[in-house]
Amino acid sequence: MKLRILGCSGGIGGNLRTTSMLLDDDVLIDAGTGVGDLSLTEMIRIDHVFVTHSHLDHIASIPLMVDSVGFMRDTPLTVHATAETIAILKQHVFNWKIWPDFSEIMNEQQPCMRYEPLELGKTVALGGRRITPLPANHVVPAVGFHLESGAGSLVFTGDTSTCEALWDAVNRIDDLRYLIVETAFSNVELELAVRSKHFCPSLLAKDLLRLKRDPQIFITHLKPGEVELTMREIGECVSGFIPKMLQNGQIFEF
Ligand SMILES: [Zn+2]
Ligand SMILES: [Zn+2]
Repeated sequence: MKLRILGCSGGIGGNLRTTSMLLDDDVLIDAGTGVGDLSLTEMIRIDHVFVTHSHLDHIASIPLMVDSVGFMRDTPLTVHATAETIAILKQHVFNWKIWPDFSEIMNEQQPCMRYEPLELGKTVALGGRRITPLPANHVVPAVGFHLESGAGSLVFTGDTSTCEALWDAVNRIDDLRYLIVETAFSNVELELAVRSKHFCPSLLAKDLLRLKRDPQIFITHLKPGEVELTMREIGECVSGFIPKMLQNGQIFEF
C-alpha cells in the first residue's frame, strides 16, 4: 500500500495545497486542492474518494475532478462518506447551483458519480486494502480513517479536536506504524481552536497522553504563517513522542 501526500496545509498560496492523499493510484483520501497537481491520466484512474468531512479544504477538488474526467471514464466515481456528510454535499455543493449534480449526469450508461455511505468502525475492503472510519470531533460530522494493508496500519485523524473515542480506537490497532494528526492552530489561538474544534499544540499534547501505541507521528493542517511557531510549540508541549511535520509529496509504504 502506497500513500502519497498531495496536500497537507491548512491553506493555499505558493506551493501550499489543502488536504488530500492518493492511496495507490485509484483512491483519494480527502480531495482538497492538492488533487489539482495530478495529471489528467492520474485523475482518470481514481475510482474512489473517501471523505473525512464536508469542509471545502477537504472536498474542493471533487466537483472539478468529476467534471474534468467524468466523461473519460466508464464507471462512476464513488464518493464514500457518512450519511450526514453525503447529505451536506448533496444539499450544498452538488445542488445545480454551486455545481451540477453529477450523480444524475450520465457517462455512457452510468452516472459520473455515486455515493456510498460509510459507518463508523465498519471496514470497506478494496482488494487487499482495508479502510475503516474512526471517530473524530469537529464542528461538522467528521471521521478519521484507519488504512490497513495487512503488513501495517496508518491512521489519519482528519480534522478533529479532543476525542477520547478516537484514541480508544487507535489503541486497538496492533500494527499501527504511522499517525497523521492535525494541528490547525498555534497555542496563541487556543480559543479559536476550541471553538472551531481543531487541535492546537497544548490540546494535542493532552490528547496524546491517551495514545498507548508508538507510531511515527506526522503533523498536518498547519496554518500558513504559523508553521514554524506551531511545530516549535508541539516540540515543547508533547512528551513521549517526537512528531514531525508532514511534507507535501511524502510517500508512506506499508
Ligand atoms: Zn474541517
Ligand atoms: Zn480542514
